[in-house]
Amino acid sequence: MSDNWIRLIPTSPSWQPDPAAAESAVECVLGLFTGSGASVGDVEARFQDEITLIDSGVNTASFTCAACSTVTEVDWVFTIVDERSDRLSDLDVHLPCCGAGANLDNLDYDWPMGFARFEIAVLNASRARYELDGSELREVGEVLGHPVRQVLAHY
Ligand SMILES: [Zn+2]
Repeated sequence: MSDNWIRLIPTSPSWQPDPAAAESAVECVLGLFTGSGASVGDVEARFQDEITLIDSGVNTASFTCAACSTVTEVDWVFTIVDERSDRLSDLDVHLPCCGAGANLDNLDYDWPMGFARFEIAVLNASRARYELDGSELREVGEVLGHPVRQVLAHY
């Protein structure tokens, strides 16, 4: 059995909400997946002490360098994440293609992933339009107290 997750993360990797705002945002997200034909397996707020990789499961394969357009396999990123493990507050890197400076959180991935200390994880949601649209992301961000973006993950 495979699982699909919508992982909603603050646009700033180190930012965390207070617990009450997190709970309100969970309720807000739950409300997006109720109604006819919609369902969701679970919606939960997850806090992390340190910045962690919010991966997309099997979805992300590579990223493109903004400076030289070289495509590099995402395994290069996973290696750096392993090396830095609990000190991912430093997301600055020099890319292997041309040495250009970049930030792991906003590389041009072929499928979005990110870094965060907080996420709202939505398991096996189902509705006509699966992912959140721009106005829904704004709504969740306003309830949470910080803009959010989404990582669609498949495991
Ligand atoms: Zn490059």
